[in-house]
Amino acid sequence: MNAKEQLQHCGLAPTANRVRVVEALAQAVGPRTPLDLLEHLAQRMNRVTLYRILDLLVEHGVATRHNAGERAFRYCLASGPLGHAHFHCTRCGQTQCLESQALELDLRSLCAKLPMRVEGAEFHLSGLCQGCLIA
Ligand SMILES: [Zn+2]
Ligand SMILES: [Zn+2]
Repeated sequence: MNAKEQLQHCGLAPTANRVRVVEALAQAVGPRTPLDLLEHLAQRMNRVTLYRILDLLVEHGVATRHNAGERAFRYCLASGPLGHAHFHCTRCGQTQCLESQALELDLRSLCAKLPMRVEGAEFHLSGLCQGCLIA
């Protein structure tokens, strides 16, 4: 699914600015802060517009927002109904998305056993990233 289709799939009109934000999120290697995104968009969008679009994307399930103990929220594209886990490196501060199929399956079976209806899940793993382990 491209950015335009993804927006339409989630019930949003694919305006040029929304498409640009979704594309910027898709190209990111990890979850981005709004400032990272502004930089990536080469300042062609004002901050208020970007925040408004990010809120809308989260509301419609296109993107997820999370906080790894930092001051700024980070955003990435949503994957699956229960999302995905993030790894935060305590040395260099980098945050990565972990696309773990196994985690999602375990979550599904866990949720199936719970008497509540789970609508979201957030996982943060922390430690040393590959780069910091070698250094
Ligand atoms: Zn690191
Ligand atoms: Zn992510």
